[in-house]
Amino acid sequence: MEKTNRLYLKKIRYAFQWGLFVFILYGGYKFYLFVEHFSSGTPFVKRPPLVDGFLPIGALMAFKLWVTRGIFDSIHPAALVIFIAAIVTSLTLKKSFCGWVCPIGTLSETVFKAGKKLFGRNFKIPKYIDYPMRSAKYILMTFFLYIILIKMTGNDIVVFLNTPYWKIADVKMLKFFTEMTSLTFFTLTALFILSLLFKNFWCRYLCPYGALTGIVSLLSPLKITRNEKACIHCMACTKNCPSLLPVEEKTRIKSPECTGCLTCVSNCPAKGALDVATPNKKAIHPLIYVLMVLIVFFGIIGAGKLAGKWHSQVTYSEYKALVPIVSQFEHP
Ligand code: SF4
Ligand code: SF4
Repeated sequence: MEKTNRLYLKKIRYAFQWGLFVFILYGGYKFYLFVEHFSSGTPFVKRPPLVDGFLPIGALMAFKLWVTRGIFDSIHPAALVIFIAAIVTSLTLKKSFCGWVCPIGTLSETVFKAGKKLFGRNFKIPKYIDYPMRSAKYILMTFFLYIILIKMTGNDIVVFLNTPYWKIADVKMLKFFTEMTSLTFFTLTALFILSLLFKNFWCRYLCPYGALTGIVSLLSPLKITRNEKACIHCMACTKNCPSLLPVEEKTRIKSPECTGCLTCVSNCPAKGALDVATPNKKAIHPLIYVLMVLIVFFGIIGAGKLAGKWHSQVTYSEYKALVPIVSQFEHP
């Protein structure tokens, strides 16, 4: 790839990630104002449905109900739409939901880059500890899949999705951050420090959502592909990979940890050495790949909106009754 194109690619990713991050943050602020209306009587602000994206466990239940019984959850429908968008994007375009869309991924990357500036480098956890630690997110994922897909019946899910707890789960999520307990505060501080020291600490070791998108992404036909003949073995790809993958040693990156972030591609100085490519090694232009991520992810969100599966059916009077007593609701 030409030097200027590589630079453009970095800028495009930066703009894509931060544009979305600011948009989601603004949505979070509007949701805060929405909740404040019911708690403190401030002026009413419309509820932004995108906050449902922070309810992935409920979304997995809603997904099972939709697939097995054809019922689309009307309480937090956007949670299911965003979940489907994340899974389909990962299935077709590697784990690009993590590498391009997820705001936690954006934050995590920014924090480890800040850590690198602060300490002069990011630290590496020895392999014999790294491997078992990495399994933590897969164990968490297996636990949720087992409970929801195997243990819970369709009726159990219908009951759960009709509880006041699920109706108010978005508000509970907000309160988790705005009314932090000291345990939450210390846990988040510890995660922040670990993320400064180690590349993508949360995503690499703990995120069950990322574990699921990673496993699904194994089926993606597109993979980062290295052309041995064009490669000059400069190691820039391996050194810059946020997922610590040995790109320079492989001809095709099949790992579930690869987020399709294209950092390796945008750092590769040798023309034609590194690309996103199909199984028969046909290279896809990086910008086409980015466009495909945009079209698949937001296409599904748009389809959900057009199908009327975006706005919550929880009424104004239900929020009015439930928000002031939100702390009374515990997970059933
Ligand atoms: S291999 Fe390349 S695309 Fe995959 S995570 Fe590493 S830098 Fe990103
Ligand atoms: S950055 Fe490109 S040229 Fe350098 S080792 Fe990786 S694939 Fe080869």
